[in-house]
Parts: sequence; C-alpha cells; structure tokens
Amino acid sequence: MVRSSVLGYPRIGINREWKKVLELFWADKLEETDLHIQLQEIRLNHLRKQQEMGIDIIPVNDFSYYDHMLDTATMFGIVPKRFAYEGGAVPIHVYYGIARGTKDAAASEMTKWFNTNYHYIVPELNGAEPVLTENRPLLAYREAKEKLGIEGKPVIVGPLTFLKLSKGYKAAETDAWLDRLLPLYVQLLQELASEGVQWVQMDEPILATKLSADDVLRLNKIYETIAAQVPALNIMLQTYFEAVDNYSDIIALPVKGIGLDFVHGLTGNLVAIQVFGFPADKVLGAGVIDGRGIWRASLNGRLDLLQDLVELVSEDRLIVQSSCSLLHVPVSTERETKLPSELKDALAFADEKLSELVLLARAVSSGRSEISRELADCERALQALKLSKARNRQDVQDAVAVISAQQVERQQPFAKRHIAQQEKWQLPLFPTTTIGSFPQSVEVRKARQLWRKGEWSQEQYAAFIREQIDIWIKLQEEIGLDVLVHGEFERTDMVEFFGEKLEGFAFTQNGWVQSYGSRCVKPPIIFGDVAFKEPMTVEETVYAQSQTSRPVKGMLTGPITILNWSFVREDITREQVAYQLAYGLRQEVEALEQAGIGMIQVDEPAVREGLPLKENEHANYLAWAVKAFRMTTCTVQDSTQIHTHMCYCEFHDMIDSIEAMDADVISIETSRSHGEMIHGFELNTYKLGIGLGVYDIHSPRVPAVEEMTDMIDRALKVLDPKLFWINPDCGLKTRGMDETVASLRNMVEATKLAREKY
Ligand code: GLN
Ligand code: ZN
Repeated sequence: MVRSSVLGYPRIGINREWKKVLELFWADKLEETDLHIQLQEIRLNHLRKQQEMGIDIIPVNDFSYYDHMLDTATMFGIVPKRFAYEGGAVPIHVYYGIARGTKDAAASEMTKWFNTNYHYIVPELNGAEPVLTENRPLLAYREAKEKLGIEGKPVIVGPLTFLKLSKGYKAAETDAWLDRLLPLYVQLLQELASEGVQWVQMDEPILATKLSADDVLRLNKIYETIAAQVPALNIMLQTYFEAVDNYSDIIALPVKGIGLDFVHGLTGNLVAIQVFGFPADKVLGAGVIDGRGIWRASLNGRLDLLQDLVELVSEDRLIVQSSCSLLHVPVSTERETKLPSELKDALAFADEKLSELVLLARAVSSGRSEISRELADCERALQALKLSKARNRQDVQDAVAVISAQQVERQQPFAKRHIAQQEKWQLPLFPTTTIGSFPQSVEVRKARQLWRKGEWSQEQYAAFIREQIDIWIKLQEEIGLDVLVHGEFERTDMVEFFGEKLEGFAFTQNGWVQSYGSRCVKPPIIFGDVAFKEPMTVEETVYAQSQTSRPVKGMLTGPITILNWSFVREDITREQVAYQLAYGLRQEVEALEQAGIGMIQVDEPAVREGLPLKENEHANYLAWAVKAFRMTTCTVQDSTQIHTHMCYCEFHDMIDSIEAMDADVISIETSRSHGEMIHGFELNTYKLGIGLGVYDIHSPRVPAVEEMTDMIDRALKVLDPKLFWINPDCGLKTRGMDETVASLRNMVEATKLAREKY
C-alpha cells in the first residue's frame, strides 16, 4: 500500500485565528496560559482535519508560535546575548523578544526562507553554549497521540540547514558549531526513539542549493552519527524547493527515507533517480503535489509520474507527499464565493491538496478506476480553465509576441537623455524627491472603506483623494522638495491596486498566507492573459500636476514586482506573464506621458525575490526581468525621465542587471545595509542617476540633519555628484504626518548644506 503524507500544514487557520491570538497576546489582552490553550486548540484542529481527510502520516511540530527556525534555535537555548536569558526553557517573552525586539534589545534579523515569500528569524550563534532545553517535537508527538490517537511524524529543521542559515559565527567555526549541535540532535532523537516514534522528518532544504565539498562531508558526518547513535529511528531526510545537486551522495546516507521534490525539482530529480536508481532499502517520499502553488494538480499527469516511480521503487516503499510544507498556500478554497467558477474549480489550497494526496495514494495502490469520477472531475475543471476566455486573449498574445521580439531600447543612450532631461527640467544639484506614498492616516483608510462598502459614491471618494493630494502638494512645496508625488492615497497595496485595474487578475476573499510572524499576505492571482483596460493612475497624477509648477512623478508598480508578489498561472512561463504585464504597464506609461507627465517611476522592489535557487539559472531570470522592465519603459521620449525604486534586500551583487534596466534614476534603500550598497554602485561602474536613501523610514524617529549629511558625504565619495539624488529609503505610507514632515525638512536642510559644499 502506498501511503500519503504532508510536510507541514498552514499555521494561520481558516479565519487567521492564529494571527489573532498572537496579536492579542502581544497587546497584553491575553494571559500566557490562554495563549497556550488557544494555540493548542488551533493545532489540534489542524491535526484533526488531516486525520479526517485520511492522510496516513501526519506531521507534528510543524506548528509554531512564530517561526520554525526560531523554534529550533530556542529549543537549543540559542538566544542572542543581548537578551536576558538564564538558561532552561526559553520564556515566551524572550522568544517573542527575539522575533519582534524589546525596549532594550533589537529583534534578530529576518530573512527569506529560500525562494519563498516566507521569512524566518535568523538564529545568532553567539550566546551561551547550546543545550536541549525542551524536546518540543516529543511534546508535539505525545499531544497528537494522546488527544487524537495520531501516530505523528515530528518535523525538525535538520542540522546542516540550521547551521547554514544561522549567523554570528565565522566560516572556520562551522565544524565547532556542528560538534556542539549534533549531540543535541542525537539526544533529541534518542528521546523520540525511546518514545516509540516511527518516522521523523528532518528538513534539509539546503540540499536543494549548491553544497561545498565540506558541506557534503558535514552531511555525511551528521547522518552517520545519527544512524550510529539512534539506529531504531526512521529518518526521512526531506529536501524541497528544487532538485538536489548531490543525489548520489544523498542516497548513500544511512537514512531510512529520502524526500524529493518532483514539482519544483522535477526534471533534475527524475533524471537523477532514473540514472542512478533508488536504493532498495530506502523509502521514497515523492513530493508530487505542489506545496507552494495554488493550482489543482492534473491527477492523471501525477499518476503517470507515480507510475514511473513505482517501476523504480516498490509501492510499499513509496510515500505520496506534498512537495514542501503547505505553509506557503492558503488554507481552503471552500469559502471563496466570488471567484469565477472556472477559476475556483481549478484551485487547490492546503485542504484540497490533502484530498489530492489521498486520491493519488489510493489510485496507485488500487488502480485509476478506483477514482475515475474524481479523475474526470479534475480533467473537466482543468479543461474549463484552459478554454476560458480569460486565458485566450488573442489580441494580448499577438501584441506581446510582436513587442517581445522587438528591440527594447530607449531612442537614445542615457548620456544623451540626461542632457535632454536636464534641459527640460532644470533641476538643481542633488534633486530631492520621495518614493511615492505619504502617510495613510486613519482618515484615508476610513474613506476607502466607506467607498468600498458603497457608502460613499465614486465622486465623493475621488474628491476626498483630491483633498489629500492638495494637502500634500502644498506640504511638499513648502518643505522645498524638487520632484513631487501625488502620495498614493488611493492605493492600499502597490500590487493589488494595479491587479484590480488590469484584466487577468482575481482576488480571493480569504487566500491568506503567512509572510512572517503573524503577518499574512493575500497575493492576487494572475490567472488569465493580462490586459490593459483603461488608464489607472492618470487622473490622480494629472490632478496633482495641475496644482503645482514643480514636476510631479507618476508612480507605477513594475512587472516583476507584480509577478513575484502574486500567485501566477502555470500554463505559460513566468517570462511570458512578465511580458504581458510589461505590455499592460507600458500602455499606462504612455498614457501618463501623453497626459503631460514627464517623470514616471516604475517600482521594482521585488526583483530579487524571483531569483531562482540554482545559480546557473540566475542569468536567464535576470535577463528576462530586465527585458520586462525595459519593455515597460522604452517607448517614451528622451526627455521623459524614467525612475525606478528598489528596497527590502541586498542588491549589490546584481548591479549590472540594475544598470541594464536603463532607468534614468534609481532610488534605492541604503540605511539598512549600512552603506554597503554604496560601494556596489561605485562611480566607475554605475553611470545612471541614483538616489540613495538617506534615512530609514521603518522607524518613527526623526533623523537629524547631521546623520543625513554623513550619508550624503559617504555616498559622494564614490558617486558622481551630477547624477546624485536625495530621498528617503522607501515610501512613507506607514509613517505619521508630523514625523514625516519633520524628517523631510531635515532632508532638505541636509541637501542645502551639501549643495554649498559640492
Ligand atoms: N511607491 C511605493 C511607495 O512609496 C513603493 C513601495 C515599496 O518600495 N515597497 O509606497
Ligand atoms: Zn521601497
């Protein structure tokens, strides 16, 4: 019999009850004991659901109070020195302190979990000697068994992945840290073995990245040590997100099972298993249902694949699994009542994926005829989406084919455009500007709600937005900024705003996924061909321009950011979707230009997020990402100034690509990278306009003039003053009005001082 399993289930709950409980606790509105009780209830519900659906091997310890990397660190007593911690089980306020910061100590860094939009807390290996403070996987196992009779599979972040994702130690200390951690893992696993645990899932997604020879040695050491010291335990060495590079090393490890991703690493893993075979003494965890995509699987297609696998691995040694934890998808499509039916029927969120897994396991064991009705349903649904009007916009497909075959270049190179733009705009040395949004006050959010509920007419709402624009145009003039913006008061979210106005997008009511901690996002779904309907930003921008003689910058979200922050159709390539987006946005750029807007910013904060895990795929991704940006912006006149903006992460290793985007001006976040960015953009290499963020907008603190002067001086050591702009790090929509005005005044002051100096 083939068995089914999942690698993890979403924590947030169908109504985001998890988030609500955490936030009540943080707001001091819930006692700690109630926090534990309520989270247990949520956790048990999730286990019960998997049990009722008929999943054979159910994960435990995949649940978290915040993040699984933080759980692993604190379980080993790994707490950064700056937190007061005296050993033993890490108290809840220390746990949340590391995650969110306290009055006295800054939070630990948070970063992207591989190539997903989930962010984990980076463990800092600099405090006291690690010890096993409590065996959380064991507690989770007992709980599932006692309360629900579930024989759970504890999930644990494996030692190599944990070590590689941690920081605070030097490369030369890696083995010393491994020697500290490994005995703790052994102790933990021994306790699980004595409890009678059957399967343990050791997550080693690091194996989907390129390993050094030393890391391969470490991998061997880890799993040989565990096999020698905990021989009775079945370890499922779990990889995901990509094919493994070191297949033959991995299958030689003394573990009972190996989990491979046959969705995101399909080609690589399948070739490896066909060429090198699969050891006869091991179980294969076949990740055939996409744990991070929202689309219903073709059950027939997956069964074909499973059939191929069964020729290599006998049925009793096959587990049908999700490709990764279901953490990355929303909980259930059940309550989506507003989606077009051809879309809804083609979606599978976590719960729907559970039933797909159960069906697949059943069909492999007993034949396809066992599930013939479900197979027919599935084919019908997939066919309906394929044939839908939304996916068959011949006009869009033809136009995109034409323009993506054309050269995507501005008429003149930057040097010439720069002259034309200077002539037209007569900007002073070090022009000042902002990134786009101004504070979204309670009033702004309330107005939007009234309008959305229909209590305000379109005209009423538009008048309100115009008032906000008036206020901020006056303020910007008074502060003395050179290039103004309208403030983005009409937008809740920079992707959603455009998605709602372009065709080919859908929005769920409840399709939330955890992004970090209690923060959830509800990505739009790009399900059809993307098409421009009518101008999206012209009205507000032109209105703002009519209120001032200074230039107002139009403000768009770029194609790659829209792509990377959405769930995307999979019947065509991401590259194709990017070009469709570019085509739609290009029409907006042209509409703005025609309406007299001569500076247009196309934000691309999320370019880096689409970077593939495999290094050898980077160049290709960056090439089409750059092309999509250029497609969006290349048709304007020389004197029209194209801006872009990037933030959130390190860009210094992709400066060639950023330069290739050929934006006349880039504004980029600097303060969180502590000036490292500046060196990447050295004078000799970066030849376009550049505005470095001179202050961090993530804090309400008003930076002093001198601080910004320091930033400016440091930047001008390496950058050409003639191309240098001055701006904050990012949009100001989360800030308050007073601090924003005060900070911008200081920024303008620092600029004046700089103009005198240079
Ligand atoms: N223009 C956007 C804003 O100012 C940019 C946001 C971002 O970079 N994330 O809000
Ligand atoms: Zn930004």
